[in-house]
Amino acid sequence: MTRLILLGPPGAGKGTQAKILADVCQIPHISTGDILRNAKAQGTELGKKAQAYMDRGELVPDELILDLIRERLSQPDAQAGWILDGFPRNVTQAAFLDTLLQELNQTYDRVVNLEVPDNILVERMLGRGRKEGRADDTEQVIGQRLQVYRQQTAPLIDFYSKRQHLLSVDGDRSLEEVTASLKQLVAC
Ligand code: AMP
Repeated sequence: MTRLILLGPPGAGKGTQAKILADVCQIPHISTGDILRNAKAQGTELGKKAQAYMDRGELVPDELILDLIRERLSQPDAQAGWILDGFPRNVTQAAFLDTLLQELNQTYDRVVNLEVPDNILVERMLGRGRKEGRADDTEQVIGQRLQVYRQQTAPLIDFYSKRQHLLSVDGDRSLEEVTASLKQLVAC
């Protein structure tokens, strides 16, 4: 059973690597960013509420995210394992996840932090913005997202280190090299 929390700054390659691993392990890749972007594209109530925060590079309020995660982790396909990408994003969400997993009789077995230096992150996100046209991959919003990461998400490194769950992987290598390291850590 693989239940993996993938941490790391925006642009670290979490989404790309999570997709590959989810495919290898045949488990769902659960990305709150993807769920929110879909909701935004479909113009749902959630999408409308989340849009302004996402466009500014800020975190969407916890109350919009927590129900969504509860519902997603309760679905049948998530009982075989999962990879979380982009959640938790702050200490409140991490504490909520601990409680939720207890309720669902689940636990995570790995937390992996993908480490990439800031200058590389900016380069990658600007490249992605040009290629995929992601609305929040512009210079100004990238700066804001990195600041939000440092203030709100980076404390999770300490949160999970204290629980002795955290492993670090150097994300500043080729896609294949990073995948190979992750596969070694995630036996499925
Ligand atoms: P991502 O694709 O994970 O970089 O997420 C894109 C944007 O979606 C973020 O900048 C946030 O505005 C929002 N978002 C994604 N996941 C979360 C989360 N767990 N909590 C709050 N906001 C989130």
